[in-house]
Amino acid sequence: MRAAVLREAGRLVVEEIDVPVPGPGEVRVRLRATGVCHTDRTVVEGGMPVPLPVVLGHEGAGVVDAVGAGVTDLATGEHVVLTITPGCGMCRQCQLGAFALCEVAAPHLLDGRLPSGQRRLTRGAEQLNHFAMQSSFAEYAVVDRRAAVRVPADVPLEVACLTACGVSTGFGAVVIRAGVEVGETVLVIGAGGVGLAAVLGAVTVGAGQVIVADRSVAACRLAVDLGATDAIVVDDDTDLTARVRALTGGGVDAAIDAVGTPSTVAAAFTALRKGGRAVVVGVADPRAQVTIPLYHLIDQRVLTGSTNGSIRPHIDIPRILGLYRAGRLPLDRLITRRYPLADIGQAMAELGVRPGRAVITF
Ligand SMILES: [Zn+2]
Ligand SMILES: [Zn+2]
Repeated sequence: MRAAVLREAGRLVVEEIDVPVPGPGEVRVRLRATGVCHTDRTVVEGGMPVPLPVVLGHEGAGVVDAVGAGVTDLATGEHVVLTITPGCGMCRQCQLGAFALCEVAAPHLLDGRLPSGQRRLTRGAEQLNHFAMQSSFAEYAVVDRRAAVRVPADVPLEVACLTACGVSTGFGAVVIRAGVEVGETVLVIGAGGVGLAAVLGAVTVGAGQVIVADRSVAACRLAVDLGATDAIVVDDDTDLTARVRALTGGGVDAAIDAVGTPSTVAAAFTALRKGGRAVVVGVADPRAQVTIPLYHLIDQRVLTGSTNGSIRPHIDIPRILGLYRAGRLPLDRLITRRYPLADIGQAMAELGVRPGRAVITF
C-alpha cells in the first residue's frame, strides 16, 4: 500500500509499504479521507520528538476492512472515524470520563506504538512506527478497536474524518471543556481548522457574541462566514485584551486559545470577565512558560487546557456528526482543499497559507 513515511525531519515521502495485519482486539480500516493537521507538520519539521521512520496522519476515517481476533462488535464494511484519544475504558481516567488522559492509551500517542504496545507497520523486514495510534496518511491503517468510532454511513467520510482531531478539539473545547451556555460571550484566538471548529461549536450551542482573532484577513473572513459576530485581525501591535474588553464591555465568558504561545495564552486569560474560563488547545511550543497576573486568578478566572476537546469519543463523535446531519453544524464548510496522497507535500506547504481545513482523499 502507499503511505506517507517520515524518515528524516523535513522529508515526508510517499512509499510502498506492506498492508498491515490487525492483531487481537484491532481492526484494519481502508482510509477514505484524512484531515491535514498542524501537528503533522510540526512533526515533519522536527518540532515534536517521535521515533522514526514513522507513517504520519492522525485524522482518518474509512471503512472497516478486516477485524482481528476477539473483535465481535464491529464488522467489515462499517464506516468509522479513527479517534486520537481511544481510551482503555478501565483505568481511573477513563472511568472518570477523561479518555484523553487514559493511563493505557495516552502514553502511546507519540511513542510509535498501538495501545497494545505492538507495531503493525512494515516494509519487508523493516519495522515502521505508528503516529497517534493510527498513521492515516496511508491506504490502510490498523488501529485498536476502541479507536474506531462507528459513524452513520450517510455522513461523507471527508466530513467525518475531521472529528478524529480538529473538530473534536475545537468543538469540545467550547462545548465540553469551557461548558459555554446559551448567550455567553466567546473569544477564539486562531482561526485555523481547530479555531474555526470552535467558532462553529459556539454558534451551535447558542453563544451570544463570538469574537475571532487571527493574523490572516482571509481566515477572519471565513470565521465570520461561519457565524463569528466580530473579527480582530491581529498584528504585532494589537492589544488583544483591550480590544476584546472594549467589544464586550468587560471581557468574555470563555476564551479558546487555538494557537498556544505565551502571549496568546496570556491574552486568552486576561480577556476573561471575572469568573470566566480560558481553555488552551494549541501548543506552538511545548516548552514555553506562561506568565499571568495573580489577581486575575483570585477573581475566579479559570485557566486550563484540553486534549482533543476532552471528548468521550464513542458518545461525542456521533453527537457532533448528528448535529451535522441535522443541518446545525456545517462541518463541510471547513473543508477548503482536497489533495490525493501523492500531493501530501503540497498539502503541508499550504497549511496556514490558505484558510480552512485540507483533506487527503483516497
Ligand atoms: Zn491534529
Ligand atoms: Zn484508560
